[in-house]
Amino acid sequence: MNEAAPAVLLRGLRKTYPHAENPVEVLKGVDLRLARGETAAVLGPSGSGKSTLLALLGGLDRPTAGEISLFGEPLGGLSEPALARFRAANMGIVFQQFHLMPHMTALENASLPLEIARDPGAEDKARGALASVGLSHREDHLPGELSGGECQRVAIARALVTSPRLLLADEPSGNLDVRTGRQVMDLLFSLVAERRATLLLVTHNPEFAEKCSRRFVLAEGRLADA
Ligand code: ADP
Repeated sequence: MNEAAPAVLLRGLRKTYPHAENPVEVLKGVDLRLARGETAAVLGPSGSGKSTLLALLGGLDRPTAGEISLFGEPLGGLSEPALARFRAANMGIVFQQFHLMPHMTALENASLPLEIARDPGAEDKARGALASVGLSHREDHLPGELSGGECQRVAIARALVTSPRLLLADEPSGNLDVRTGRQVMDLLFSLVAERRATLLLVTHNPEFAEKCSRRFVLAEGRLADA
């Protein structure tokens, strides 16, 4: 992997969802270059394709056309298993809906990415990640026994437990009340800065966008400087 390459490089990215009568052309040529350690907010109206863009960056879906390179690695050249390995080694993803495993404790949820990677230090690292989000006292609790803000902190611990170089976040405060959302976002920004990770944050909230080093608006299928 090229150590000098940008964290994120998108060229002419297009995504069309097929449909017999009405194919939906969501991304119509998105270009973006993010240096390592930059934090970028993507704003834009609902339905403009923000989640689609994040899913493509996360390798959860494939573009219709165009190029995605992360840290110099073109994702288009990777097979599905190689893409899954690349994601596990380089990315953490936080969703609005937390997506925790309901039958696993906070500690088990936080250690899951490392368990999958068969990391022998999984449990210790997960304890460390839970401590970094202030949840050491909740290790043995199930998601149903935690508040929304605590669930999102577990999800952040899970996303960061592998020390990813790129964090993708889709409206992480969207399911939380204003005060809790602000606390969770402050925590997220401080952990990203501490680890010098690159962040791409989808948000409706101008206050959180202001905390990013760069801001973009997705509209009409294209990404523009905000
Ligand atoms: P945002 O995150 O900005 O709200 P999305 O990326 O979720 O936007 O959606 C962009 C557009 O793509 C919407 O019109 C949505 O209906 C459409 N879309 C999203 N996913 C699919 C899919 N799997 N199949 C067809 N259309 C989709």
